[in-house]
Amino acid sequence: MFRLVSSLLPERAVQSLSAAYFRANAWYNVGSDKFHSTQTTIQHSTMKIQVLPALSDNYMYLLMDEKSKEAAIVDPVEPKTVLEAVKAAGVSLTTVLTTHHHWDHAGGNKELVSTYDKPLKVVGGDERVEGLTQLVGHGDTLNIGSLKVECLFTPCHTKGHICYNVTSDDPEHNPAVFTGDTLFIGGCGKFFEGDGTQMYRALVEVLGALPDHTFVYCGHEYAIQNLKFGLHVEPNNTAIQEKIAWVKKRREENLPSVPSSIGEEKQINPFMRVGEASVQEHVKTSDPVETMTAVRAEKDNWRPPK
Ligand SMILES: [Zn+2]
Repeated sequence: MFRLVSSLLPERAVQSLSAAYFRANAWYNVGSDKFHSTQTTIQHSTMKIQVLPALSDNYMYLLMDEKSKEAAIVDPVEPKTVLEAVKAAGVSLTTVLTTHHHWDHAGGNKELVSTYDKPLKVVGGDERVEGLTQLVGHGDTLNIGSLKVECLFTPCHTKGHICYNVTSDDPEHNPAVFTGDTLFIGGCGKFFEGDGTQMYRALVEVLGALPDHTFVYCGHEYAIQNLKFGLHVEPNNTAIQEKIAWVKKRREENLPSVPSSIGEEKQINPFMRVGEASVQEHVKTSDPVETMTAVRAEKDNWRPPK
């Protein structure tokens, strides 16, 4: 419904309609002053990541370099929450990393820039990103203190979607990739502005080429719904069965399901497994791109059995 209405409206009207839609949804699902998950912090050697839940099921991420105390924020749709976290962590925010222009990811950029007391660089891969100051493309890099951020161009959910892969020189340090609405735990984003060929490239050739131990931080808490669908595609996949049990426990304690890892997604995510016979058989083709297209089409209309 929202997609249908938004396809008929100009971009600016869509953005303000989006704001009302996402805020109302969050109020309905989570409550007016609550979070859908507990804020958690994950330490990867010199890189620290604070998971900041927002709206009904979005995640913002505060990415901090322990050496320099410099920080970036990924998709700060709720600036107040971000500013409190920045203050509490004692870090200096320099950069906004925007995965894509949708309101529930980029809709807080301008407010954050105007309320933070230092200038902020707003990075993204699409001119439609609110407050954009630096347009980036595939392979572009930037630094957050001693951390290196590489931009990975992954169009399909939107034409200008960027994933951000963060590494450091420390060999003990696991890399982390922020995947927005391209790769979710056990799933992928809808193909609003692209097709199966593009999502195949994004998930299998670009993100799938990252080391298996790369942590995955995605844009939404959709793990349970996605894993249920994954089990529908591959009923005998024990990795999915085990992950559902683990995520259910986490969610009962109000803890986020992120991060997973690239290696884990290759075991549990049907969209990263489109080269596997078990997934191809489900949609009766032996072509990975056709499998991607068909599995996504099925997921678009699928509801878990009651
Ligand atoms: Zn989106």
